[in-house]
Amino acid sequence: AKKNSFERFNYYRPYMEEETQHRLHMVRRLRADFAARKLEVWYQPQVDINTGCIIGVEALLRWPQADGSYISPAEFIPLAEYSGLIVDIGAWVIEEACQQIRRFEERGLQNFRIAVNVSVPQFRMRDFPELIEQQLKNHQVRAERLELEITESIVMEDPDFVADILYRLKRQGIQVAIDDFGVGFSSLSYLQKLPLDRLKIDKTFVHNSNQESGRIIIETIVDMAHRLGLGVVAEGIEDEHQLAYFKKLKCAEGQGYYFARPMPAADLSKLLAGEVSG
Ligand code: C2E
Ligand code: CA
Ligand code: CA
Ligand code: CA
Repeated sequence: AKKNSFERFNYYRPYMEEETQHRLHMVRRLRADFAARKLEVWYQPQVDINTGCIIGVEALLRWPQADGSYISPAEFIPLAEYSGLIVDIGAWVIEEACQQIRRFEERGLQNFRIAVNVSVPQFRMRDFPELIEQQLKNHQVRAERLELEITESIVMEDPDFVADILYRLKRQGIQVAIDDFGVGFSSLSYLQKLPLDRLKIDKTFVHNSNQESGRIIIETIVDMAHRLGLGVVAEGIEDEHQLAYFKKLKCAEGQGYYFARPMPAADLSKLLAGEVSG
């Protein structure tokens, strides 16, 4: 039978509570699994578009489930942010990244970069730059090897505060990229004020490169980055047409399934062993 509006209204509250219950349940599971060291950091190669060489990787969290599946970070990062767990999880991801960089350097891989995503609550921590400095020191990793990917939402949160943090990170030598560039609702003025190294073109733009309007946006971003002296990474390159297009634009770096999917650290080691010997 068709429900009238009164019934629908009545169903509203229990439904909302169910949502909240579910969210709390997921947060508890996430906290327990993190404490039990069940989270994993996977790595996706970033490639020099002209030579095809791997120049770095992006660290991407994975949450394995008992049935062998994974909950997407797009789903659980918001939970981690909302519960505050992201501060500890984020610090752990940076720790893992530092250990990886160390291992690669020991095996003779020079100038290799690991990019780590950073959330708003991490940025708001007191002494975030000092925490990273300490981690780099503990693992004897040069700051230039670490890149932080921040979104425009972090920048817009409190531009002066963010500028201060970024300059403190920059003084150490840490690299900074703007993630999902052009997706947020933000002004461009921060590009002049912040010490940035790179813009990452979001995959939604890359996937629209078969359309005139998509190409106009991409070409404007690439041109602007070049003229501002910033590097560019095209994210989400999935086929050879997209690769050829970004090569033609002289976009230096790419990342996407066409080159490699995110993979566990052990698989990345094997892949890079091939690169070094070959
Ligand atoms: P993001 O930072 O924009 O990361 C890029 C996403 O695009 C990743 O999704 C990656 O697997 C996916 N991707 C890469 N190449 C391709 C491609 O060719 N095609 C398609 N369709 N997708 C591609 P993933 O791993 O599911 O991560 C989702 C988001 O979760 C990330 O988006 C990032 O915002 C967040 N995230 C992941 N790890 C962390 C972390 O350690 N800390 C924080 N704060 N956020 C994280
Ligand atoms: Ca990213
Ligand atoms: Ca993105
Ligand atoms: Ca993102």
